[in-house]
Amino acid sequence: METLDRETVKKLFDHYRKHRDGIRNKPEMASICLICGSIHILPKADDDRKLFCRSCGFAFYRYSCSVCGKTIDGRDPKNQACGECGLRVCSCGACDCPSRGDKN
Ligand SMILES: [Zn+2]
Ligand SMILES: [Zn+2]
Ligand SMILES: [Zn+2]
Repeated sequence: METLDRETVKKLFDHYRKHRDGIRNKPEMASICLICGSIHILPKADDDRKLFCRSCGFAFYRYSCSVCGKTIDGRDPKNQACGECGLRVCSCGACDCPSRGDKN
């Protein structure tokens, strides 16, 4: 796993704290906690769509859309929670839950 230098982490952290739109498109944000700024992010053992921060315990969704392959990040305002299954909806409008066929 590549490590991010402190300055980069601080810049990304400061930026995305204020501008959450775009987190999903930034690969580095998979390893930065938006709550405490830690880079000790690990996959969650009981949920392969989630990551969690080892420092503060905050867990968030980050996984690839099964339809278009784009990254979905629960901290990004463009990836709202799905009202049906509780997962996050991709910016393409797709969600993994079986019943969801149309947008909205
Ligand atoms: Zn944290
Ligand atoms: Zn998608
Ligand atoms: Zn759903």
